[in-house]
Amino acid sequence: MSYVNGLKCRECGREYPIEPVYVCEFCFGPLEVIYDYKNIKKVLTKNTIGKREKNLWRYRELLPIDGEPQVGLNSGYTPLLKADNLAKELGIDELYIKDDTVAHPTLSFKDRVVAVALTKAKEFGFDTVACASTGNLAHSVSAQGAKAGFKRFIFIPATLEASKIIASLVYEPNLIAVDGNYDEVNRLCSEIANKYKWAFVNINIRPFYAEGSKTHGFEIIEQLGWKAPDSIVVPCASGSLLTKIWKSFKEFKEIGIIKELSTKVFAAQATGCSPISTAIKQGMDVIRPVKPNTIAKSLAIGNPADGFYATQAVKESNGYGEDVSDQEIIDGIKLLARTEGIFSETAGGVTVAVTKKLLEMNKITRDETVVICITGNGLKTQEALNGQTVSPYYIKPNLASFEEVLKKISL
Ligand SMILES: *Cc1c(COP(=O)(O)O)cnc(C)c1O
Ligand SMILES: [Zn+2]
Repeated sequence: MSYVNGLKCRECGREYPIEPVYVCEFCFGPLEVIYDYKNIKKVLTKNTIGKREKNLWRYRELLPIDGEPQVGLNSGYTPLLKADNLAKELGIDELYIKDDTVAHPTLSFKDRVVAVALTKAKEFGFDTVACASTGNLAHSVSAQGAKAGFKRFIFIPATLEASKIIASLVYEPNLIAVDGNYDEVNRLCSEIANKYKWAFVNINIRPFYAEGSKTHGFEIIEQLGWKAPDSIVVPCASGSLLTKIWKSFKEFKEIGIIKELSTKVFAAQATGCSPISTAIKQGMDVIRPVKPNTIAKSLAIGNPADGFYATQAVKESNGYGEDVSDQEIIDGIKLLARTEGIFSETAGGVTVAVTKKLLEMNKITRDETVVICITGNGLKTQEALNGQTVSPYYIKPNLASFEEVLKKISL
C-alpha cells in the first residue's frame, strides 16, 4: 500500500501523477513527492517504527515506493553517537554525531538516496541506472546497482581522487570520466537523460531519490528519544540533504511523532565552493553559481540544484550558513579523529570546522543540544591528508632501536 499522492511543482503547485519526471512543464520548477499524511498518521507510530528492522525502510510510509523495498535493506540506521570528547574541546554541553561513515554498504549517506532511487527505478521498469556524481554517489550506484542487477552508467569529473575512482571501478560499472567539473558533467547528463531511457538517479528520478535523505533526519529524531535537536549542522553540495532533513523534521511533527519543532538548521560549505552559505550570509534569495576550488570534492557543486530551497529552510528555521578554508577542513578532520575516533572524509571536516565557527560566533550556544551530520568515510579521500598527518617512527627490528625512538616520545 502506498501513501503517495503524486508529484507537485515546488513553484506553481501544479500536480502530476507518479512518473519518472522532475520538472514542471509549465514553469520548469522542480517536482516534489507529496503524501497522504492523514492516513500515514494512523499507521506510522513510534510503536510500529520501533518494531521494524533497523534499516532506512523502517519509515517506509514516508518514502515514495508502491511495493516492497527492493534495494538497500542493509542501509541506514547508522549510529547517533554522544560526542563528549569533541563537545569538551568545542565547549558544548551536549553534542551528537550522526555517523553516516559506517553501517552503509559504500560508507556514505548516498546509500540512503540510492536505496530509494533504485527501488523506484525497478518499479518504473528501468533496466539501466545512471548518475552524475562528485564521488560518493558513483560508489553507491555502482555497488547497489550491481546487487540489484542493473546496467550502470556512472559519470564523474575526471579529476576526482584516484581512491574514489577505484572504489567505483571495483563494481565494474561503465564509468565515464568527463573532462570537466561536476556542473559540466551534470549538464551533459541532463542531455543524455533526455535521449536515453535510463534512470538517472539524480536527474529524471531526482524527486524520488531526494526523499531518501529524509531517513537521516527521521533516525536522528528517533535516536534522540523522539525529539528534534536545538541545532543541526549539515554539509551542503546541491542542498538536497539539508532541505530533506528539514522536511523530515516537519513531517514527524505533522504526523504527531514529535510535538514541538524549534530546530535551527545550519548549512556548512567549503569557502572554495560556497554558493549556498554565501547567499545566506548576504541575505540573498538568489544563488550565484561559482567555479569550485576546494579539497571537499564531494561538496563541490558550483550551481546547486536545491540551493534556493536550502536557503529557505535555513531562514525558516532561524539557522545560518558558514564556510571554511581547506586548512580548516583538514584541521576539522583531524580534530574529529583525535577526539572521537571517527575518520571522516573532507565533507565531515567541513561540518566540524563550521560548527566550531558557529560556536565562536554565538550562532550556536553551549547549552543547546547539537547534532552534526558526518556524511562520508575518510578512507575514501585519504589524498586530502597527504603530508598533513603525524609521521611514523622508522626503526630497525631490534629493541635498542625502539628504545632510542621511545626516548623522543613524550608519554
Ligand atoms: C552528496 C554529499 C553531501 C551533500 O549532498 P547534497 O547534494 O547537498 O544533498 C554531503 N556529504 C557527502 C559526503 C556527500 O557525498
Ligand atoms: Zn510549476
